[in-house]
Amino acid sequence: MAKTVYIAGLGLIGASMALGIKRDHPDYEVLGYNRSQASRDIALKEDMIDRATDDFASFAPLADIIILSLPIKQTISFIKELANLDLKEGVIISDAGSTKSAIVDAAEQYLAGKPVRFVGAHPMAGSHKTGAASADVNLFENAYYIFTPSSLTSPGTLEEMKDLLSGLHARFIEIDAKEHDRVTSQISHFPHILASSLMEQTAVYAQEHEMARRFAAGGFRDMTRIAESEPGMWTSILLSNRETILDRIEDFKERLDEVGQAISKGDEEQIWNFFNQAREQRQAMEIHKRGGVDSSYDLYVDVPDEEDVILRILELLRGTSLVNIHINEENREDIHGILQISFKNAQDLERAEHLITENTDYTVVVK
Ligand code: NAD
Repeated sequence: MAKTVYIAGLGLIGASMALGIKRDHPDYEVLGYNRSQASRDIALKEDMIDRATDDFASFAPLADIIILSLPIKQTISFIKELANLDLKEGVIISDAGSTKSAIVDAAEQYLAGKPVRFVGAHPMAGSHKTGAASADVNLFENAYYIFTPSSLTSPGTLEEMKDLLSGLHARFIEIDAKEHDRVTSQISHFPHILASSLMEQTAVYAQEHEMARRFAAGGFRDMTRIAESEPGMWTSILLSNRETILDRIEDFKERLDEVGQAISKGDEEQIWNFFNQAREQRQAMEIHKRGGVDSSYDLYVDVPDEEDVILRILELLRGTSLVNIHINEENREDIHGILQISFKNAQDLERAEHLITENTDYTVVVK
């Protein structure tokens, strides 16, 4: 039976979800809320949604499923608002927030006892881009789509959500909300703090040591790429996962002190072990590894997971100085595009960007 889905927040995530839902459920009615008119207009014009509003409460009673795809603070405030609206019995409410405990706790507090269902969710895909104009039906392909079930997630809720979102081609997984926040604090939130701190330290240092800017190369670029992330989103992530992140910061300070002490003592063995252990641990971890060149020129291409796509790209790039090609098939949060292709020089990078853009409709990002 065709359902009515209401997406509140037609930003990068919400609008991309709308496209994914329509892909597998063209008969569903998709309603959209957005504060600004620009994203509402784009979403309507591009047929991502069927109807749009700037009054959140007005469409909520019509929906079988409501997805809040807004900043964390706003998500919580809309959950509060939903508690006082006359919603369809058994409506499923879900969200897209990057931290989960604060949102799930709010849902448990405000929605308990109401005839509604709730399941927290975090689609682990995205980029530095924002707004409906950046929507991409392939954004979630092969990315983890995390559900954090709680007492309001009654049996059958997850199955309905997975069916709704089948067109996203994501990998669904369930985890406790608190554990989600602990894990992401270590592998995502804290690294963002580190990247931004390192960038800031370097910028200050470069005021006195001008060559620092010029000498910064591949290693520095890799360490600081995520310092370009959207500040508003990261502020709200840190503020909604405070204790866990502070714990990671304290732990890291101790590690830095240990290395500092080893250096000051001139303890060669300890320093060697420090590097060697980290190297072995990284090699054992399933994260993408960069090409064997220290300084390369990379572009990222968003391609669908279809047969011969890579062959097609390689065919186009025949004759360029392509040195490495990597498929980012793991967790794609903050990774620009699935294919990462490295070239030896800037001219070939530019040529490749031109060739792919001219001959395909895939999105190409040069970083
Ligand atoms: P976005 O900036 O593209 O969109 C945010 C949306 O929220 C827009 O529609 C905007 O109009 C709306 N909005 C912002 N403040 C509002 C307010 N005060 N009142 C009403 N509407 C408001 O951001 P996005 O990337 O789509 O992020 C949406 C959610 O998804 C966030 O909770 C974010 O943490 C989460 N998320 C983002 C990423 C990512 O990498 N971008 C990845 C996973 C999850």
